Amino acid sequence: MDAEQTRIQALAPRLANQIAAGEVVERPASVLKELLENSLDAGANELEIELEAGGIKLLKVRDNGRGIDEDDLPLALARHATSKIYTLDDLEGVATLGFRGEALASISSVARLELVTSVEDSGKGWRVVAEGRDMTPRVSPAPHPRGTSVIVRDLFFNTPARRKFLRTERTEYGHLEGLFRRLALSRPDVAFTLKHNSKVVHRLRPAVDQASQEQRLKQLMPSGFIDSALYLDMEATGLRLWGWVGLPNQARAQADQQYFFVNGRSIRDRLVAHAIRQAYQDVLFHGRHPVFVLHLELDPHVVDVNVHPTKHEVRFRDGRLVHDFLFRSLHRALADTRAGQESNAAN
Ligand code: ADP
Ligand code: MG
Repeated sequence: MDAEQTRIQALAPRLANQIAAGEVVERPASVLKELLENSLDAGANELEIELEAGGIKLLKVRDNGRGIDEDDLPLALARHATSKIYTLDDLEGVATLGFRGEALASISSVARLELVTSVEDSGKGWRVVAEGRDMTPRVSPAPHPRGTSVIVRDLFFNTPARRKFLRTERTEYGHLEGLFRRLALSRPDVAFTLKHNSKVVHRLRPAVDQASQEQRLKQLMPSGFIDSALYLDMEATGLRLWGWVGLPNQARAQADQQYFFVNGRSIRDRLVAHAIRQAYQDVLFHGRHPVFVLHLELDPHVVDVNVHPTKHEVRFRDGRLVHDFLFRSLHRALADTRAGQESNAAN
């Protein structure tokens, strides 16, 4: 190696973004997650998703959210640019799903991404793409109703090493549908349409009350779940827990139907898992996993979501309080099944 090669240089923006993409863009489902979260953050209540070939060839999300102002468009695809937080204080109470300002830049660096958007009802809109190694934004007029469409084609076309890790279309589609299910359960108030290879797979109306929410669960959860699941809605010390828990006889060999949302964000958390396991302990056989769709709501300031780039993990300021509240609420909800079991045992 000659001296020339050891000089320090700044990475070209595309390369820097490709490196960052390694953390958040693993497969088509991770792209879909970022796009749907952006649409929800933009206040959309109608989302249309179109996929082709397991999302590898085409992945498109169209929303009716607030759109992006023409003046902000050059920054929309730039790294570390966000409209969601301005200060550290904002970060500590963040209520949006996104805030890192990385997703569109990362995706643009490893696929052909175009964003078309409008902030008005006139149909006048704008299109933006990021070109070349510097990812220079190019903005041009394009018609679009109020809202935003993001079209992502040929994922990983320029990063062959990543592309090799993609599985079959069918497997990738499975991940996409799983992600869709999770997002559709997280926001019952939002209408969703999912198309794969031009076929409508799911069409979900907005659900405003318990009955219509249960309709949605009927479509998205294992058959029979909602017919016998227990509904609960409990509140204490700034915490609210609501949703549906499956009866012990619906438990599964795998923990594959467990949905837990914290302020609308799907999370996996050891403390939460432990509280739920304990609540079910004396009604479940060893090795069986309960089915549930649960929403925990609390002040965003008492939960830290900036733990990992994918934001699947959270940290509660008062973990013990959350754990005890979850345990008590679920234990009480399951009390009748417990009584049932005891009287069975007594007979
Ligand atoms: P983040 O979501 O962390 O802010 P992104 O890279 O995902 O970063 O998006 C960058 C910015 O582009 C967002 O902060 C938002 O202002 C804008 N944006 C992205 N998608 C949409 C959308 N569907 N509707 C409105 N604005 C959007
Ligand atoms: Mg985002």
